[in-house]
Amino acid sequence: MSKPVTTSENTQLKDIVAHAKEYGFVFQSSEIYDGLAAVYDYGPNGVELKNNLKRLWWEAMTQLHGNVVGIDAAIFMDPRTWEASGHVAGFNDPLIDNLDSQKRYRADVLIEEKAAEYERAGDPARAAALTATLGRLLTENDLAGVKQLILDEKIVDPLSGSAKWTDVRQFNLMFSTQGSAVDSDAPPVYLRPETAQGIFVNFLNVQKSARQKIPFGIAQIGKAFRNEIVARQFIFRMREFEQMEMQFFVRPGTEGEWYDTWKAARRRFHEAIGLAPEKLRFHDHDKLAHYAKAAVDIEYEFPFGFKEIEGIHSRSDFDLTQHQNLSRKKQQYFDNDLNPDTGKPYGNYVPYVVETSVGADRLFLATLCQAYQEETITEGEGEEQTTKTRTLLKLHPALAPIKAAIFPLVRKDGMPEKAQEIFDSLRFDFRLVIEDKDAIGKRYTRQDLIGTPFCIVVDGQTLEDDTVTVRDRDTREQTRMPISALRAYIGERVSFKTVFAKL
Ligand code: ATP
Repeated sequence: MSKPVTTSENTQLKDIVAHAKEYGFVFQSSEIYDGLAAVYDYGPNGVELKNNLKRLWWEAMTQLHGNVVGIDAAIFMDPRTWEASGHVAGFNDPLIDNLDSQKRYRADVLIEEKAAEYERAGDPARAAALTATLGRLLTENDLAGVKQLILDEKIVDPLSGSAKWTDVRQFNLMFSTQGSAVDSDAPPVYLRPETAQGIFVNFLNVQKSARQKIPFGIAQIGKAFRNEIVARQFIFRMREFEQMEMQFFVRPGTEGEWYDTWKAARRRFHEAIGLAPEKLRFHDHDKLAHYAKAAVDIEYEFPFGFKEIEGIHSRSDFDLTQHQNLSRKKQQYFDNDLNPDTGKPYGNYVPYVVETSVGADRLFLATLCQAYQEETITEGEGEEQTTKTRTLLKLHPALAPIKAAIFPLVRKDGMPEKAQEIFDSLRFDFRLVIEDKDAIGKRYTRQDLIGTPFCIVVDGQTLEDDTVTVRDRDTREQTRMPISALRAYIGERVSFKTVFAKL
């Protein structure tokens, strides 16, 4: 259930948004034209962090599992795909306009926020009853009933306080564009609202070409597009975003075990990349889609409350059967394993599917919220003691955009050359940066702000004995070591293996 943003929570998200912009993580799209709503660009540090997250997910799926292979399907698909999947008829949000403020809202979100208000006021029974009524009305597609509920609950526009509402109507979330340059009557092509269908329509191509036996999975990372009505909370809800999805094809009857297996595996992944266990929780869907056998969200506690970052769905044979019916191409698999009950092969069937679907951008936001920390540091003793605060991104070293910064202590005496030498000797292994401006303290601060786990200082002693100091971002401790030890020291700590070992 969504929870409105309170002022203090809002401030915290605001800090993160400001930090993301200032330090090159995320920019509003087309900012010089005042920005395009709910569309964002990733800056130099952001793209590195996002690529690291995507690469970790990709390798955790396809490299760690011999029976998971990847694809990269096109964004445009035959429009019939979206008829088969149910998106043309049913991928709708109920929207409502306020006549005074001219603002548009999701009717269900307004009601859920009212329920959350009851919950906070200590009346969970009333909250549950309201949510249940909403669920029933939406299932029955009773839009007049949804409007009546808004009126009965005296829900007003959060901006203007007005209760003058239009009727509720369904709004399809798919973006479409003209598919043919010559035939203006040709049906529109859609920008895919999820990546999963590119996997379903390729099920047999992949199974045969990769010579996979059931159970096996197909993973994909790619853009998806949804014309979200309520688009706020930064990159949490965007109109153009990226999904990392894996469809795992199983023998009917085994989907329950696989659902449990993937549910646990996916939670371990989030913990392994550094999301705090107490900020993660499972949220079972109360209301299942008609084809679903089970569905759960993995939620992360953002500054604006617990919200979904990943969905795990047991989808039965719904999608493949729908495509089989509409395309008239068999989507069956011949299973020649012996069924112990009959002593005969399991034979032909349409496989069942367990899906894991995580948004790369939501994972990015969760990672950023988790890493963003303000610390109070006390330095010195007695009268000399000072206290200051530092802001840092405590990113898992495997995710950090830059793995190490090299600082020549001064810009003379051969130190810059030595720093360059270190850079050249390590650049095949890690993303590094040389920083020679400002005092050392300021340089440390700059790297803390973007989450660089190690800072290497070249000083007078380096020129004598080829040793450097390595300062740890989190402990601020400095260790002197030979230059020749850097590759192993940093490599061990930033390696993806540190994450994989926890899966
Ligand atoms: P929500 O209820 O928040 O709209 P959903 O249940 O529609 O999400 P799914 O269709 O299950 O989401 O999509 C899987 C994942 O894709 C989500 O867990 C989320 O991480 C991501 N995702 C979905 N919609 C968006 C969006 N508009 N912006 C960013 N990420 C999104």
